[in-house]
Amino acid sequence: MSLVYPFNDLRAIEENAPTIMTEGKGAYVTDTNGKTYLDAVSGLWCASLGFDNEALIRAGEQQLRKLPYYHSFLGRGVDVTEELAQQLTALAPDPLSHVFFGCSGSEAVDTAVKFVWYYNNAKGRPRKKRIIAREGAYHGSGIMSATLTAMAYCHDGFDLPHAMVLRTRCPSFFDEAAPGESEIEFSKRLARELDALITREGADTIGAFIGEPVIGSGGIYPPPEGYWAEIKAVLAKHDILLIADEIITGFGRTGRRFASDLYDLEPDMMTVAKQLSGAYFPISGTLVSAEIHDTIADYSRELGVLGHGFTYGGHPVGAAIALEALRQYDELDTETRVAALSEQLAAGLAGLRRQSNRVADVRQVGLMVGMQLLAGDGEGPSPAAQVARHCEENGVLFRVINNTIAISPPLISGPEEIDAILNALSAALVELETGAIAEMV
Ligand code: PLP
Repeated sequence: MSLVYPFNDLRAIEENAPTIMTEGKGAYVTDTNGKTYLDAVSGLWCASLGFDNEALIRAGEQQLRKLPYYHSFLGRGVDVTEELAQQLTALAPDPLSHVFFGCSGSEAVDTAVKFVWYYNNAKGRPRKKRIIAREGAYHGSGIMSATLTAMAYCHDGFDLPHAMVLRTRCPSFFDEAAPGESEIEFSKRLARELDALITREGADTIGAFIGEPVIGSGGIYPPPEGYWAEIKAVLAKHDILLIADEIITGFGRTGRRFASDLYDLEPDMMTVAKQLSGAYFPISGTLVSAEIHDTIADYSRELGVLGHGFTYGGHPVGAAIALEALRQYDELDTETRVAALSEQLAAGLAGLRRQSNRVADVRQVGLMVGMQLLAGDGEGPSPAAQVARHCEENGVLFRVINNTIAISPPLISGPEEIDAILNALSAALVELETGAIAEMV
């Protein structure tokens, strides 16, 4: 094997060869042994429009034939990239008005951080630079984006986290609420803690707060009731920017176009990637408000240039595919579709909860779901890992995050895919109860 496989024990993957995928169709992928799986997590929360989408392929092919590459540096640009910027900013929540394109979510997050720094330098506030991120957050694998990420496994061995980041509590009502505390009380407590952190560290040293509107890779944690309103009020009081990391939640995953609309976030900046192109091309965006844009634009005039950009940022093939993806989200009537599918999923998961006392919690916003199982005895693979493994044997792929099984099927899924997900989980839970499952793992 010549490939370095990300997020693996590299020795383990040499000993147990990875499952290599070769083909895809609809919500399904097929491996080298010819085994077909329903991908219940859309790859890495991104293949929203399925694995054989003709119109996305055509959009990419047409652009490859017309103009396969051009950049947007140094007074040049591309028609289709500008068109995507216009459409994206028109769809984005207020007050976002401009977008900067990159190639990955990590780049989008790093760009957001650099813009916070540039913006505060422009305003003559050179100390107002630190960023607050939360426990349970995942914001990427670059140097700053990995620093904002909370997971120790993203820091260990890499001399991270870098300075400049402050950490505040994860809004996990399930794990963090005090006995008897209501969701609203919990949200207010977290806001008080944030306020105390900012007061202690000095608002003049803190430029922004970054948060996934619904935490994804940390374990699927929707905000408790009232959370974002409380957090927004604290940030406004201290003149701290809000960056909404919508890299998973953007483009219909939660049932609204952006989760910022769902929770009325009105972020100062927003990062997007993944479903932006349905994962058919690596493209990401950092959106900013008109106020931030105007400030950094004036500063670039003063300095002579905005010295930031990526060779492939705003790639025309990615832009053409993203424009087609946006068209399809409209055509699919994503909000209605996600509402119907998520209702079916919610009903089925409620049934699983009744079926098995191993299910500790189910957290769901639209088609973004975490089913948490009771922890095991610490011996061998966790119950969640055993369930996911059983499902994989039976042709359904999930992702395991600690004791939680992540469920996030492509938006083009139909009722039959939701049934297949529920049936696979139900069968695995039965095996878990009987103990038969441990034999397989
Ligand atoms: N932000 C969030 C919320 C993510 O979930 C991810 C990836 O999963 C990233 C940032 C990083 O994106 P990428 O892997 O494209 O760099």
